Amino acid sequence: MAPNRPAAGLCDRCRHQRLVSNTRGSVFSLCERSRQDPAYPRYPRLPVLSCPGFDASPETDPDRGSDSGPPR
Ligand code: SF4
Repeated sequence: MAPNRPAAGLCDRCRHQRLVSNTRGSVFSLCERSRQDPAYPRYPRLPVLSCPGFDASPETDPDRGSDSGPPR
């Protein structure tokens, strides 16, 4: 977890999360799904404990990372 933001719950392990910072160094968790689906808030109330749009990020889920090709 970055020091200037609260834990985002599920969003911290989701491929649709994008971290954005302001000029004062605060970091916010933006949901990229909000761009195409208004059911998802741009900045969800944190921590997100349950979300139908959750999709595990390959960086945080090694099993998903192997989807992109054969193991080396
Ligand atoms: S889809 Fe859900 S879990 Fe993923 S970033 Fe958006 S709000 Fe968070």
